Amino acid sequence: MINGEFFEGVSGMEEKKQFGLNDVVEMKKPHPCGENQWRIIRMGMDIRIKCEGCKHSVLIPRKQFEKKMKKVLIRNEEE
Ligand SMILES: [Zn+2]
Repeated sequence: MINGEFFEGVSGMEEKKQFGLNDVVEMKKPHPCGENQWRIIRMGMDIRIKCEGCKHSVLIPRKQFEKKMKKVLIRNEEE
């Protein structure tokens, strides 16, 4: 018999932000142009996002991006 209590110790799920290439995300601070929709156009050590309003693109370190990103608005499911 397998002891059912075995599963008790499973630690809580850590909430991690999921994002991928071509996703449209919302940042904590909108772009000065007033738009707050950014498309991820490059993934790597640094993330390049492009403002959907004025098409200006910025490169931010991944860690900083994860902090500043509020949520994913449109998820690109295609891989
Ligand atoms: Zn902009």
